[in-house]
Amino acid sequence: MPKYNYICHTCANRFEVRLSYAEVDTARPVCPDCGSADCERGLSRINFITESGGNGHSHSSGGCSGCAGGSCSTCAH
Ligand SMILES: [Zn+2]
Repeated sequence: MPKYNYICHTCANRFEVRLSYAEVDTARPVCPDCGSADCERGLSRINFITESGGNGHSHSSGGCSGCAGGSCSTCAH
């Protein structure tokens, strides 16, 4: 079950809630710090990728972003 980040508008606390895809649109999570229901869902997908370890491939192969391998006229890699 994916985790979703929420930000409390009352006390600016950030917390995570596990919700199913069916629940996420109707869920009304309550801030565990102050009990406020005035919470906004954050960008869970970015954090979800980061938590799973991400990947270190974006800069490991060298060269510019335009050369996906092989010769590149931009960086001559
Ligand atoms: Zn709060």
